[in-house]
Amino acid sequence: MTPDQIRDYLEYYRDLGFDSVYTPMPKPPQPLPLLETLLPPLQPENDSMEKIRLDMGDCQRCRLCEARKKIVFGDGNEKSPLVFVGEGPGADEDESGIPFVGRAGQLLTQMIEGTAAKEGILIKRPDIYICNVVKCRPPENRTPQPDEMQTCGQFLYRQLKTIQPKAICALGATAMKALLNTKEGITKLRGQWHKWQDIPVMITYHPSYLLRQYNQQAKREAWEDLKALLHFVYD
Ligand code: URA
Repeated sequence: MTPDQIRDYLEYYRDLGFDSVYTPMPKPPQPLPLLETLLPPLQPENDSMEKIRLDMGDCQRCRLCEARKKIVFGDGNEKSPLVFVGEGPGADEDESGIPFVGRAGQLLTQMIEGTAAKEGILIKRPDIYICNVVKCRPPENRTPQPDEMQTCGQFLYRQLKTIQPKAICALGATAMKALLNTKEGITKLRGQWHKWQDIPVMITYHPSYLLRQYNQQAKREAWEDLKALLHFVYD
């Protein structure tokens, strides 16, 4: 309809005695959907690492149980002031039941122990605790899906609440999303302090990402992140 036709149309109805027109109200802007928490707070009283592992049992709560060989619960000092959180087990971890033992894990161990030694901090890998957002290997090492993270996230929630570390290090975007419930990218949030339930969280790159040859700059940044993290926890 042209403006002239609209005018004619309105004048026709005005002449018939109508003095107002009905226009539907525009819809109010819809709030953006809230991200669901990926770490559901399902913690029983007097929790312990032993209880958490027992509750997990031979877990069949999500589809990741179908192809897994071993549940990779976590490894290291359960009283550590520092917890590293990765994404999920890969093939080597699925075989051994221990997190971060493959190539990425070896790099992580080197980075932790190398930075600590260089900075005069007397820790080795067994002094810290390492676990993942999901405890079973996603097929083809794909990224865990939100429902898998949520189902398994209750266990990570309980692990972190039980250990109550002085700081957490989120390795990569999946751990970052699980802990911070954010849609921001890792390059924006890494190297800074954030909080999970009042516990300081340092975000850094996942060691698998650092293994790619062209990521020299990212590697330098990850060493810096680790240095800041270790000084914060152990100084
Ligand atoms: N990548 C992870 O995120 N976790 C592991 O345990 C191993 C590789």
